Amino acid sequence: MPICIIGGGLAAHAAAAKILIENPKANVVILNDGGPSNSSLAGQRYRTRAGDSQKSDQDSFVELLASRNGGQETKPMRQFARTSIAQIKFWQTLEPRKLGVDLPSLASTDKPEWFGPQFGTTNAVGNGHGRSTTNWFKKLARELGATTMEGSVTSLNRELNIIESVNAQTKDGQQMNIAAEHFVLAGGSVGGRMFESTNIEIQNSPQELAWEAGLGLVDATKFMFHIMGNVGKDGSSKPGCLETDKLDQAKVYLPIKAGSDLEELDKYTTDLLSNHKAHYEFPEIARRFISKGGKCRISMPDGTSLPAQVAHHYSHLGVETDNGIAVTGVSNLSAIGDASGTGFWSGNKVRFPGTALDNCLVGAAMIAKQSPGAWSDPVVIKPIAEQSIPLNRNTAQRAKLLRQINTQHLFDIEFGDQPRQAASNWVETLEATQFDSTIAQISLATARSCFAEQSGLPVPKVIRKDQIQTMKMPVAARSRIEFSQEPIMTMTSSSKTPKELVDLRVRIDKMDSVLISHLAERFRFTEQVGYVKAGSGFLPIDNTREQAQARRIAELAEQEGLNPIFAQKLLKLIIGQVVKRHKEIAAEPLNTKANILSPRDELLKLRVLIDESDAKLIKYLAERFDLTEQVGQLKAKKSISATDKSRETAQAERISAIAKQEGIDAPFAQEFLTAIIAEVTKRHQQIAATSEKNGGLDSGNS
Ligand SMILES: Cc1cc2nc3c(=O)[nH]c(=O)nc-3n(C[C@H](O)[C@H](O)[C@H](O)COP(=O)(O)OP(=O)(O)OC[C@H]3O[C@@H](n4cnc5c(N)ncnc54)[C@H](O)[C@@H]3O)c2cc1C
Repeated sequence: MPICIIGGGLAAHAAAAKILIENPKANVVILNDGGPSNSSLAGQRYRTRAGDSQKSDQDSFVELLASRNGGQETKPMRQFARTSIAQIKFWQTLEPRKLGVDLPSLASTDKPEWFGPQFGTTNAVGNGHGRSTTNWFKKLARELGATTMEGSVTSLNRELNIIESVNAQTKDGQQMNIAAEHFVLAGGSVGGRMFESTNIEIQNSPQELAWEAGLGLVDATKFMFHIMGNVGKDGSSKPGCLETDKLDQAKVYLPIKAGSDLEELDKYTTDLLSNHKAHYEFPEIARRFISKGGKCRISMPDGTSLPAQVAHHYSHLGVETDNGIAVTGVSNLSAIGDASGTGFWSGNKVRFPGTALDNCLVGAAMIAKQSPGAWSDPVVIKPIAEQSIPLNRNTAQRAKLLRQINTQHLFDIEFGDQPRQAASNWVETLEATQFDSTIAQISLATARSCFAEQSGLPVPKVIRKDQIQTMKMPVAARSRIEFSQEPIMTMTSSSKTPKELVDLRVRIDKMDSVLISHLAERFRFTEQVGYVKAGSGFLPIDNTREQAQARRIAELAEQEGLNPIFAQKLLKLIIGQVVKRHKEIAAEPLNTKANILSPRDELLKLRVLIDESDAKLIKYLAERFDLTEQVGQLKAKKSISATDKSRETAQAERISAIAKQEGIDAPFAQEFLTAIIAEVTKRHQQIAATSEKNGGLDSGNS
């Protein structure tokens, strides 16, 4: 059977080419979704030394890695430095024509002040090393005989310690099952999906595939920030960054203080850039920039200016391996490049610039050495009918919001003065959002690991999907589960009550629990809004927003077949409660959220969550009304007296108990229920009026 490589960047193509150079009979299939890769974006700078020397130097390289590990050198560090230097030389000196491939040797340049060579050639504007290098490896792999299938791998089909096959979806939506002897994860990093980043977004990343297959991920708390990330039109991070080695003639300007239009020369950073030393001081420079708002202006010698900002540059989260590439827990799966990360080689410490691309070449060399002579059978591909479950279940809006939440909290942890609190807020926010996607689960596990780290608790070395279920659930979700398993019954009806009515009442009780815990979740968001408003001088009441909300809720209600006036009435009730609380918060002497950096952004984020919450609320209400509609029909049909005072009392008591449990004001919860019952009553009266059997129903209790 063949070897299947999943990915489309440097790691995938270097591995395919290297396998075929060492084992020309191998059958190498590359499953590539054709999406952009970080390899194409990269500056293509490879590390062969500590810096300041034209000579590749294994000792200085190892020493540098050890400096991040308390000075302790390890065997993997030595193996990594040795293999990196050897592989970089191998690719620099390879003559494809000697292998029968019509391709010139790989272009590369080196300078004494760099930490190693740069691969590739530039385009008209001086960039393009990434693209030209990736294309070179791609062409070489293809000409040597690798087959590329366009498609995105959506699952690893694992049977105990074997990956039996993978499922993939082609561009035209066809589902395929692909069997192979060995699989290689070379699909890059999940970082650009989790954070606003210099990284591109990779769909169905190796970390997500591994997570869903129950495999482990390492280095959840290791991140790298870039000081010169690209700035998007809306001010957020955009993929790509400036190459600091190209800025040795540039001057860096910072605002004199955060938010100011006046700026001053940042001599410290300018000097580091001119000495090619800035990349060793990224954390320190990032802190300087953040203290002035995070953005800077780069003035080039030709008079042009470029904006840049501190950005998330790398998540080290990699698939757990036993030796740098062999995935732990399965015998026929490897992970190379960003898929495994550099953690194994560095003693699980933050990587140095230049080692990520080295890592792609090291992985390629190791995989090629692993099984020469094997992997030559034909590929087995079967079309399959079943729809593979897409890992990306979030809507685009939710995916964006998740990235914003993750980025904001990560920056607060890294650069704020209360990192532990920031980590705790991150966990709480993610728990409250309850987004249902692989990426949301990985985000939550990451946030929890960061919280453990900030709290001085043991940080899990490996995070895995099966742990997420045993993690503490959010209050709302917890109560929902408890009630759905064992609802507090309000059945006070006599034994003559028909079974259909008993069943419907159980379902209505469950629905009420869901509604109340959902309201509690909504109040948690509005509580945060209250603090943001109070801390930034916004008024508790915002008529424009309230009018927009009322319009929206009416539309949503209409879509769900509910009375829009009734929906607006409920919203008014909720907003009344919120405003009351916001006024209390505004009157609090000490404002804990007074230092929020960008309150307007924070408000926008929370409002998206609240709007989503309202849409859900309407859906739950519609479900409840479906049930009471059935109750109305049943009562009319069976001539059952509409009034059941004991049920009404029990319902009221039950709602108070749940409200207390959820931390909601009990009288408000009663009022909320009363408003719903009034609407149900109205509807039951309509049903009764048209009913031939019973024209006298007078109560909406159910
Ligand atoms: C702006 C920037 C500059 C950088 N500069 C440097 C540098 O100078 N030096 C350095 O050492 N490092 C640098 N890096 C890091 C370096 O680019 C990456 O570590 C490296 O490119 C990773 O290569 P890769 O092949 O593992 O992943 P990628 O190059 O990201 O390739 C992954 C590919 O796999 C495809 N894929 C993913 N999942 C699937 C799937 N399920 N099915 C099919 N296909 C899939 C993706 O679409 C993508 O095309 C830089 C990174 C950035 C963002």
